[in-house]
Amino acid sequence: MYKKIKGTEDIYGKDMKYWYYIEKIARETARLYGYSEIRTPIFEQTELFVRSVGKDTDIVQKEMYTFEDKGGRSITLRPEGTAPTIRAFVENSMVVTGLPKRLFYIGPMFRYERPQLGRQRQFHQFGIELIGSSSPMADIETIIIADKFIKNLGLVDYKIIINSLGCERDRKKYREALKEYYGNILDKVCDDCKKRYNTNVLRLLDCKVDVEYAKNAPKIIDYLCENCKNHYEKTKEILKELDIKFEENPRLVRGLDYYNGIIFEIHHGKLGAQSAVGGGGRYDKLVKELGGPDTPSLGFAVGIERLIIALKNENIPVEDFKNNEIFVAHLGEKAKLVALEISEELRENGISVVFNTMERGLSSQLKHASRLKCKLCIIVGENELERDVVILRNLETGDQVEIERDFIVGTAKEWLEES
Ligand code: AMP
Repeated sequence: MYKKIKGTEDIYGKDMKYWYYIEKIARETARLYGYSEIRTPIFEQTELFVRSVGKDTDIVQKEMYTFEDKGGRSITLRPEGTAPTIRAFVENSMVVTGLPKRLFYIGPMFRYERPQLGRQRQFHQFGIELIGSSSPMADIETIIIADKFIKNLGLVDYKIIINSLGCERDRKKYREALKEYYGNILDKVCDDCKKRYNTNVLRLLDCKVDVEYAKNAPKIIDYLCENCKNHYEKTKEILKELDIKFEENPRLVRGLDYYNGIIFEIHHGKLGAQSAVGGGGRYDKLVKELGGPDTPSLGFAVGIERLIIALKNENIPVEDFKNNEIFVAHLGEKAKLVALEISEELRENGISVVFNTMERGLSSQLKHASRLKCKLCIIVGENELERDVVILRNLETGDQVEIERDFIVGTAKEWLEES
């Protein structure tokens, strides 16, 4: 027997309603804010992610699914959705349709991480990108969408955490300050941090081991230039006016190098160790870095698997889609065709019908119908057909009646509406 690859999931059955629910609300939220969908390939040139996510990040260093294809090209399964979206924006000259461009995506991402609850090797994200605005109004729109989306799902136990990473010049000064601070305690920090000290000193701030040291580290807010500070203040001011709840965390940094300016994460209170359900921020230099015009941009992504855990943990009722409403059973050769005609009529009326395709006796057809959790069963029997009637049975209560063939669809519809 073959088994699925570690860190992947088969999604089916009872969980499916959560996927439909989240995807529906994601699409609807995106539509309300004027975002249109983009579907980029699952794999890209490796160089795209190295250039954008950053060669010293955990994603590029440790987590990418990279392979050589038969043509000798280095290919990587996408670990995130922003770089492919921006690549597509540049490659397809989307700038000609006017800026800002508003795009969203939903799809699988791949990272070779250690699997645990809420952390998989194939996971799914919904993300939006707002390409072409440097205004704080764009930061605000992005944060509002993230907030609205989570709210529209029905979740309440969540927090939006924000910070500003400033511009390249601010970060250069800040990195120097961090180097000085951590340089004095380098023998005390964990081995990972010792390495990150030289490659990506900002990441020392969100180390899970050296939390205490991070608390006393210099704060980026003290290194922001006038421009970046004003942008940050303006954004916070309007968010407050709009009553969008957020917290500031001066130690918030993101795992991807392309970010600058305002960044944010959404954390859920009932997720345990992997509490982030989403994150995003500005990436003003990325479009240029990938060969396009200088185009300030920003976006965010949320993880669908983690949202499902959050929905379950908050006991949010998610409507099951109406499937397997009626089972159509039949007995005898002559009944088959009539049963099939009735099934088609019901389907034309929008009712989900499971037709018996097995050569089975009535009791096993009924057993199967109960297993499928059908509400009603229509039994078409040769004997009844001679009197031009069929049987309608409520599988939940056991009630059953004979109905004239011509009235079966109407009556079944009524019974369904009443149940
Ligand atoms: P990131 O851009 O890395 O912060 O990812 C955004 C969101 O995607 C996270 O907040 C998670 O909800 C989700 N996510 C990231 N990595 C994984 C993973 N390995 N497994 C499941 N969800 C993930």
